[in-house]
Amino acid sequence: MPQGEFELIARYFSRLGAERADVRIGVGDDGAVVMPPSSRELVVVMDSLLEGVHFPAGSPAASIGHRSFAVNLSDLAAMGAEPAWALLALTLPSADEEWLAQFSRAAGDLCRKHGVALIGGDTTRGPLAATVTMVGIAPIGVALERKGGQVGDAIFVSGSPGDSAAGLALEQGRLHVADAMSAQILRDRFLFPTPRCGIGVALRGLASACIDVSDGLGGDLEKLCAASGCGAEVDAAALPVSEALLSAVGREAAREYALTGGEDYELLFTVPLARLGAMTSAIARGLGPVKRIGSLVAGKGVKVFARGGVMQFSGSGFDHFAT
Ligand SMILES: [Mg+2]
Repeated sequence: MPQGEFELIARYFSRLGAERADVRIGVGDDGAVVMPPSSRELVVVMDSLLEGVHFPAGSPAASIGHRSFAVNLSDLAAMGAEPAWALLALTLPSADEEWLAQFSRAAGDLCRKHGVALIGGDTTRGPLAATVTMVGIAPIGVALERKGGQVGDAIFVSGSPGDSAAGLALEQGRLHVADAMSAQILRDRFLFPTPRCGIGVALRGLASACIDVSDGLGGDLEKLCAASGCGAEVDAAALPVSEALLSAVGREAAREYALTGGEDYELLFTVPLARLGAMTSAIARGLGPVKRIGSLVAGKGVKVFARGGVMQFSGSGFDHFAT
């Protein structure tokens, strides 16, 4: 990009996010220098958002700014790490000042909220895409993993999965909802997802396995099960679907969105029965919106029990099958 455009971009990203005392050299040099705390492990994640792949063309700049950092915060939450530093690689068709202002304001607000400092990055001209690398901190040996779940463990999920997928369908005109307020709530859940950082950190020492829901609850539960070497049974009636989703699409479709939707950025985790008491206490102390939806079982694969029968997860969706 021409020099003037680089200066413009630098103005929006030179001090984005939280001020952190552990950043010795930040944005503006050839590299960043940070001072990790002693006796801690660093957890490193990266996620790309491409126009037309991860968000529809014409999405609001504020949403792209929020989501490109939120999806990485969610991965750190799933690992039980406290977010610290971020790098941003931004590819833009042109340096549109209004777009940059909205993108950086939303990204900065989210980063400050979670104590993250932007310490560097890169800007290129090309099709719109944002790639963020984020580094989090955790005590040695306690980061959460997808493996570690045991037969009998309770399965929990945070928030209300399915909202985001319905919000995306609304954005793309594939879904029409008469109730304007429900429609707006669902759209916002896609455009501005809530990474569950506080819950992720609180689950250290409590959860036996954890994953964040990016590809759909059923598929991500299948990944957790595969990593943990067991299967899962989910009670469809226990799925925490939101009032907005229920009123927008009805109970049957709401469950389908919840199980197969994706882009929720909620945490899906397992808790050994011996720690359920501690889990109940954590919930009472304000852990956040989490709900038990089923149990890990011997075998493999994900089965969902509903009044109409049993559904088996296969590939990307659920098939009804007779037992
Ligand atoms: Mg993930």
